Amino acid sequence: MKFYEASNDEVLNHLGTTENGLTPEEAQSRLEKNGKNKLVEGKKESLIHRFFKQLAEPMTIILIVAAAISAGVEIYNGVASGHWEFPADVVIILAVVLINAILGVFQESKAEKAIEALQEIAAATSKVIRDGKQITVKSEDLVVGDVIVLEAGDAVPADARIIECASMKIEEAALTGESVPVTKQAEALSGEGEVSLGDRKNMVFMGSTVVYGRGKAVVTGTGMDTEMGKIADALSNASEGKTPLQIKLAGLSKILTYLVIVVCVVIFGVQLIRHGVGLNSVLSSFMLSISLAVAAIPEGLATVVTIVLSIGVTNMSRRSAIIRKLTAVETLGCTQIICSDKTGTLTQNKMTVVEDYTFNRQLLATAMSLCSDAEPDENGDAVGEPTECALVNYATKNGYLKPALKKAEPRVGEVPFDSSRKMMTTVHSVGGKYMQYTKGAPDEILMRCTKILTADGVKPLADEARADILANNKAMADKALRVLAAAYKELDAEPAGYTSEAVENDLCFVGLVGMIDPVRPEVKPAIDECRSAGIRPIMITGDHKDTAVAIALQLGIIKNYDQAITGAELDKISDEDFDVAVENYSVYARVQPEHKTRIVNAWQKKGRVTAMTGDGVNDAPSIKNADIGVGMGITGTDVTKNVADMILADDNFATIVSAVGEGRRIYDNIRKAIQFLLASNLSEVLAIFFATIIGFTIFQPVQLLWINLITDCFPALALGMEKPEADVMSRKPRDKKEGIFAGGLGLAVAYQGILVTAITLISFLVGHFYFGKGTWESLFALEAGGEISVHGTTMAFLTLSMCEVFHSFNMRSLHGSIFAMKNQNKWLWGAGALSLLLTTVVVLVEPIAKTFGMINIGIGEYAVAVLLGFLVIPVVELVKVFYRISDKKHNN
Ligand code: ATP
Repeated sequence: MKFYEASNDEVLNHLGTTENGLTPEEAQSRLEKNGKNKLVEGKKESLIHRFFKQLAEPMTIILIVAAAISAGVEIYNGVASGHWEFPADVVIILAVVLINAILGVFQESKAEKAIEALQEIAAATSKVIRDGKQITVKSEDLVVGDVIVLEAGDAVPADARIIECASMKIEEAALTGESVPVTKQAEALSGEGEVSLGDRKNMVFMGSTVVYGRGKAVVTGTGMDTEMGKIADALSNASEGKTPLQIKLAGLSKILTYLVIVVCVVIFGVQLIRHGVGLNSVLSSFMLSISLAVAAIPEGLATVVTIVLSIGVTNMSRRSAIIRKLTAVETLGCTQIICSDKTGTLTQNKMTVVEDYTFNRQLLATAMSLCSDAEPDENGDAVGEPTECALVNYATKNGYLKPALKKAEPRVGEVPFDSSRKMMTTVHSVGGKYMQYTKGAPDEILMRCTKILTADGVKPLADEARADILANNKAMADKALRVLAAAYKELDAEPAGYTSEAVENDLCFVGLVGMIDPVRPEVKPAIDECRSAGIRPIMITGDHKDTAVAIALQLGIIKNYDQAITGAELDKISDEDFDVAVENYSVYARVQPEHKTRIVNAWQKKGRVTAMTGDGVNDAPSIKNADIGVGMGITGTDVTKNVADMILADDNFATIVSAVGEGRRIYDNIRKAIQFLLASNLSEVLAIFFATIIGFTIFQPVQLLWINLITDCFPALALGMEKPEADVMSRKPRDKKEGIFAGGLGLAVAYQGILVTAITLISFLVGHFYFGKGTWESLFALEAGGEISVHGTTMAFLTLSMCEVFHSFNMRSLHGSIFAMKNQNKWLWGAGALSLLLTTVVVLVEPIAKTFGMINIGIGEYAVAVLLGFLVIPVVELVKVFYRISDKKHNN
């Protein structure tokens, strides 16, 4: 059937549905039969594919090569001597490679699942009529025959034939390439033959958006049966971009890897020159190079950052901030300006009319109620847009029930509300004649009024009356009330066209209502928190300046009236002047969506990181331009949600502030983990470096592998779980351009690396000379074909492992004393205990110790090694004292 050629009834019949929609049971059975309303997704990478991708990492390749060469040598030795030894090195290296790759695949899928779960929360929904009632369902659950309700800002969820249409305009660029919105209609097209997509004026298509007006349509095609499905072969999965920090870290890892490879080759060469090219010396030089590579490459870095970020976004979603783009997590921590809508974000969007001003309350109530799309439910309470609900409830309270009003004056046409005009008009038929009601912002309505309904009937609108209305408007607005005006016009015939120009003029003023919209109780503390965190809150609203100022004063956003400006005043300021003046204003009232873009741009020109909220259909450009575009989960349109970086599930300003705090915490924690891992790697490299220069062997590759992959990773991850530090929201926002090593991180890594190296070397020497009763000759004996110093190695291994565990506690705060911290990190205690346990097992269980090239040391030796490791805490604490003194000087 060509749906565009058939009449509405024919279409509904053909699809087995009515204007009241399907029954829920029928919808369910159609869904089961025909499947979800989804485009087929691109194939996901298989587990095997992911596993091999992990093996292709440079570090893993180095290890596999090392294992292969080791195995080769052992086979050669075995054949030559006829005596086979258990290839412990090879087995351990391969085991580590395997475990590492499996963990890699696991964490990658876990991070992906976290993102998928977020997408699920933010999944698109549609308004649909089932059994005569309007409900909201997930767009993927729509079926053919469903009657959907479309409003400005909605994404069209499926292909559908329009059955009711009020000035609906649709942007179909995704399908037709035509970016000018198309005006739609509900009448059948009478054209013959095939009509191109762009000309099917009574159809809407999946992937387009409603930019104006509203309407109802019956679904004709879902999923791959839609026009979109026909052109989209298989949508590839939206790939989640890497954050700037991840990109920088990947770069750092790459540089480190290449650097290490070069150093390894050089050391290998130097060792060969030193000891000749015998098989044993080649092998030991090679193993030394491998040790160095293992020590220097920070394998855990990328994993830890990904895991911390994905856990962070999951945490945020639990607190109603749904991150759509991972990069937002980092940017959030740098936020300097938060531009917020007023209605619903700073206030509760629970409107109640508390005052009115009119000479004819009956007409005022009738106009307000009939010129609204809100409808009373069974209990008489209105459902719909909060402003309109308040108006319908106001009429109900005064005894004018909407169903009766509608019966007496059925609506025949309308010019829908939009936030640029700030008004709405409906036309009703009354006994052969017509009545037009217009309601909206009082200043806008007054401009279109020429008459006023007074106690003595209709009079021309004199200046005096106008002044009186404005005075009443101001009195209400100063009490933080949102004021709406209503006007009417009697018509002999139905208007020829429903456009603003044609009907919204020559009106007769009826009256004003003032409605209260209480501020959200959590907003005032959130604004105070912004202030202490160096973030400037700014209110941008379509509401009247006096209302906006009254609320902003209440909330502490501004201190006086001069800090507020209206959209009209803003229009008189040139871009250049505004770039300077933008600092002066914290409240923008009666703005158009375009003003929001100007405000964001002006702040960004100043280099400020700006977050901007938005809900309306025209807010998409400013949300897109902002550093953090914030969409509204409850009142937001699909258009804005689709371009937002973050969506507030509760539309609440306080949620933005808590997300900023969370963003700062996550970034802090990632820095802690980075500093910890880099300092650990550096200490290992330096230990090997010094030992090699002096001429003895301190570690075997498998020992370093163990420390890097087992004892380092758990504490690093646990650092990612740290609670926010006490000052997280009382310091200035971080500079967005700041690099990884900013704030002295590089220097700290260096001194901490050197410190741990020194402690490890001391431990080695204590082990070798004191417990192992070794001599200087035996220390260097390996070079001459002798044994490695097992007491030295074992103690160094234990001390280095413990040093790193203790050092992870140091990293809980980069400058603060860990003894002054109020909270405990149970993860870190767990990770520390686990690392201690595993290391103890490796050292104290004889066969395992032997496999790792160590010996089972006595309890005295064990205690000394652990105590030496503990030294890292008092020394770092001491350095932190100096940091704090210098911080204080800096701040004064
Ligand atoms: P914010 O931008 O803070 O969310 P807002 O909700 O007041 O503020 P808009 O929805 O753009 O912003 O409304 C602008 C103005 O239009 C309102 O101040 C009000 O005067 C008028 N208005 C709002 N809703 C309606 C409506 N349904 N019908 C007629 N006029 C309306």
